[in-house]
Amino acid sequence: MLSRDVLEAELDLLQPAELSFDAGQWVSVPFGPKNVRAYSIASTPRSSRRITLCADVAPGGIGSAWFRGLGVGQTVEFKAPFGGFVFRRDDPRRPLFVAEEIGIVPIRAMLTDLDEAGFDLHGTLVYWGRDPSWLPYHEEFLALAQRRAGFAYHPIVPSASIADLTAAVTALAWDTRDLVAYVSGGGAMIDAVREVLMAKGLDRKSVRWEKFW
Ligand SMILES: Cc1cc2nc3c(=O)[nH]c(=O)nc-3n(C[C@H](O)[C@H](O)[C@H](O)COP(=O)(O)OP(=O)(O)OC[C@H]3O[C@@H](n4cnc5c(N)ncnc54)[C@H](O)[C@@H]3O)c2cc1C
Repeated sequence: MLSRDVLEAELDLLQPAELSFDAGQWVSVPFGPKNVRAYSIASTPRSSRRITLCADVAPGGIGSAWFRGLGVGQTVEFKAPFGGFVFRRDDPRRPLFVAEEIGIVPIRAMLTDLDEAGFDLHGTLVYWGRDPSWLPYHEEFLALAQRRAGFAYHPIVPSASIADLTAAVTALAWDTRDLVAYVSGGGAMIDAVREVLMAKGLDRKSVRWEKFW
C-alpha cells in the first residue's frame, strides 16, 4: 500500500519468464470477452522478469476489486506490452511531463528508466493531486530533482483544481519552441493542459498523452 487507495503489485513472470517492453507501456488484464482493464508498468525494462504495477483502487469497479484482491502467490494472466506513450530519446526537445494522480505511473517508469540509464535529463515534472496521499512516488521525484541538476519537480497540492495545474503549466512553458509534453491522467486534465500549451504556440502533435479515464 502506498496510501489507502493506491496499491502496488509485483508480478514475477512465469510464462514467458521475461517481458520485453519500453518504459511507459501497459499490460491488459482480461475480465471476460471484450472487457479488459489496462495497467501501466511502473517498473523499468531493466527488470524484465519482475514487473511492478500501481493502481488507484478508489474507482471501485472490476479492475479495482481485482487489484485490491491480489494476494501473494496468486497467478494472474495478462497481455503485454501495449502502447506508444514512451519517451523518445532521439528527440532533442525539452520534455515537460504533466501527471494527474495515478497517471504518474508511465511517467515514473520513463523517468526511472532515464535516470538508471544515466541519460542527461533536462526536463520538468508537474504533478497534480488532490492531497499528498494522491502523489505516489513523490519522494522519488524529490530525490531525483536533488540528484539531477537538469530536472525540476513541481508537485501541486493541496488543491483539487485543474486551473491550478494549468496555471503552473502556463508559467513553466515560458518558451514552447523546443518543448515536447508528455501528459497522463484523466481526459479533462489532458484537454486543459493541451489547450494552454497550444495557446502558447505548441503544436498539437507535440503534446503526447495517455488517457487513463
Ligand atoms: C493505457 C491505460 C493505462 C492505465 N494505467 C493505469 C495504472 O497504471 N493504474 C491505474 O490505477 N489505472 C490505470 N488505468 C485505468 C484502469 O485501466 C482502470 O480504468 C481503473 O483501474 C478503473 O477500473 P475499474 O474497473 O475499477 O473502474 P471502472 O468501472 O472502469 O471505472 C469507474 C469510473 O471511474 C473512472 N475512473 C477510472 N479510473 C479513475 C481514476 N484513477 N480517477 C478517477 N476516475 C477514474 C472511470 O472513467 C469510470 O467513470 C489505465 C488506463 C489506460 C487506458
